[in-house]
Amino acid sequence: MDLERLQSFLTSKNVTLVAVSKTHPPERVLEVYAGGQRVFGENRPQEMLAKYDALPKDIHWHLIGHLQTNKVKMIAPFVAMIHSVDSLRLLSEINKQAEKYNRVIDCLLQFHIAEEETKFGLDEDEARTLLESPEYLAMQNVRICGVMGMATFTDDTALVRREFKSLKRIFSNLKMKYFAENEEFREVSMGMSGDWEVAVEEGSTMVRIGSLIFGERKKE
Ligand SMILES: *Cc1c(COP(=O)(O)O)cnc(C)c1O
Repeated sequence: MDLERLQSFLTSKNVTLVAVSKTHPPERVLEVYAGGQRVFGENRPQEMLAKYDALPKDIHWHLIGHLQTNKVKMIAPFVAMIHSVDSLRLLSEINKQAEKYNRVIDCLLQFHIAEEETKFGLDEDEARTLLESPEYLAMQNVRICGVMGMATFTDDTALVRREFKSLKRIFSNLKMKYFAENEEFREVSMGMSGDWEVAVEEGSTMVRIGSLIFGERKKE
């Protein structure tokens, strides 16, 4: 895939491209960086930290994979956005670590929208409970900027489209109820190499694309 064409198409739609560099070495990231890309996604804190250390400091690093509470401190000094917040406990830890570095960390709430059972994420009721909790309301060092979800891994485009619609609906519901006055709550992170076009049609503001840019990954 031609990176420049992908970037300019997404820019024209106001969609942020997160180039997912997991499993690829820093030299490959640097090639894509040379093409003007500044936002990169990783799903493992250790790997993200190693690349952060090795690569230019104007890269915005987005953590997109499931995050264990005990790994938050590893990335708290520099991470630009965490897409995978799926519990109050995790959000509390992010808040605590961000405070140590005098930062405010941007976060997305991850929702379970796929039919597959293996995917992480909240449902809408759990999100409401989180957003209404006194603990969340007291947090000063996290900023919830929207939602994230992964569709079922399938060729069934109609199913994928329904799942993306459901994420967009959750976003709109939460926006209306909790973030109406809040400009920062605006991101819908959905769409990967196989389904990003459907995601953009359904209102994605952030796509997370790996293999289309970097080529196939070796088996993880
Ligand atoms: C790996 C990964 C992606 C990118 O997957 P591709 O199919 O290579 O584009 C996107 N989102 C998450 C959460 C991932 O783990």
